[in-house]
Amino acid sequence: MKFTAFLIKYAEIGIKGRNRYLFEDALIHQIKFALKKCEGKFLIHKTQGRIYVDAESDFDYDEAVEHLQHVFGISGICPVVYVEDEGFEKLCDTAVTYMADVYPDRNKTFKVQARRARKNYPKESMEINRDLGEALLQAYPEMQVDVHEPDILLNIEIREKIYIYSEVIPGPGGMPVGTGGKAMLLLSGGIDSPVAGYMIAKRGVKIDAVYFHAPPYTSERAKQKVVDLARIVSRYAGPIYLHVINFTDIQLAIHEKCPHEELTIIMRRYMMRIAEHIARETECLGLITGESIGQVASQTMNSLIATNEVCELPVYRPLIGFDKQEIVEVSERIGTFETSIQPFEDCCTIFVAKHPVTKPNLNVIRRHEHHLDGQIEELVRKALETDELIIVE
Ligand code: ATP
Ligand code: MG
Repeated sequence: MKFTAFLIKYAEIGIKGRNRYLFEDALIHQIKFALKKCEGKFLIHKTQGRIYVDAESDFDYDEAVEHLQHVFGISGICPVVYVEDEGFEKLCDTAVTYMADVYPDRNKTFKVQARRARKNYPKESMEINRDLGEALLQAYPEMQVDVHEPDILLNIEIREKIYIYSEVIPGPGGMPVGTGGKAMLLLSGGIDSPVAGYMIAKRGVKIDAVYFHAPPYTSERAKQKVVDLARIVSRYAGPIYLHVINFTDIQLAIHEKCPHEELTIIMRRYMMRIAEHIARETECLGLITGESIGQVASQTMNSLIATNEVCELPVYRPLIGFDKQEIVEVSERIGTFETSIQPFEDCCTIFVAKHPVTKPNLNVIRRHEHHLDGQIEELVRKALETDELIIVE
């Protein structure tokens, strides 16, 4: 059977009322963006509170579905067959062929559910349900009607043309990107931060990213890996403006002046400060990290107090209560895992202490940070000057 369109289903929680059209328009925009990358021409339109994707040329069905499955806000994708209104018999014939093509095994129950959006159609919905149901039973005596819990819910929508659909392919859910403001993701080459970015983007938030690069201690390959990860996340989140900041001199200064067991914490405090600075300049409303309580020494509750203290913007940590295995599962599902586990270190071992503090004392950290006074302001300013903007899509 040749599908010629898709009916897009979206979750309606939170989008009722006056903001609904904003949500729908953003969703249409994101669908257009996603399908631009597919072969074929598509018309996306909103009709009576429903969004349809019409194919206006030949297209690759699997490719189109795959791209739609990356659009946040879509809860289900229904492949639709259009029939010209050329009499009820023609409709019955098409429905019979539809069943044969879409359900090779017809030992199933079904129910016809007709909706008349065009009221001048000669049969009422109930009549369509009954008469079309009969035609199907005649064609396939092995099938049975079940009006309560059918295996197949055959939808018939009477519009200018008649739409037939029954399957719902799951979408990613969430809210269309762009409906929720913008936030700055601290993106490393690890497993966690790409997942964190994905999760916040899923709530409709546009993502910018910052990566702290420390050449020659971290390689070009490590940077490329971060770009690759941003590209995978951008398949869901749309174009990502990735800022690459040269962090080497700051790291060296911390390494030279501060106690080694506090290196990571102090380093993370400078990352947060710089990320917040860029976030404010780019109108981001928050920061995002891949932290999860207790995963490493720098992510205990005490350590998080220390990293959190230096910024005023909210820090979103969507993985905070996730086990590593749960994070891995999401990263496999969204396709970042294979790239994340490539062996290019995102941080040189000389900057990692053997016994990092797990309960840093804020006053002690602040005191040790003062060892950097007189040079750190200049180093931060210079680091900000190295900002290399890579637009990833
Ligand atoms: P990830 O897998 O995301 O790298 P991780 O378990 O390695 O996380 P850390 O290295 O402690 O954890 O980093 C915690 C968070 O800090 C990361 O999730 C990320 O948001 C941010 N981060 C760490 N290193 C960098 C970096 N080089 N550039 C940008 N952000 C970073
Ligand atoms: Mg890391």
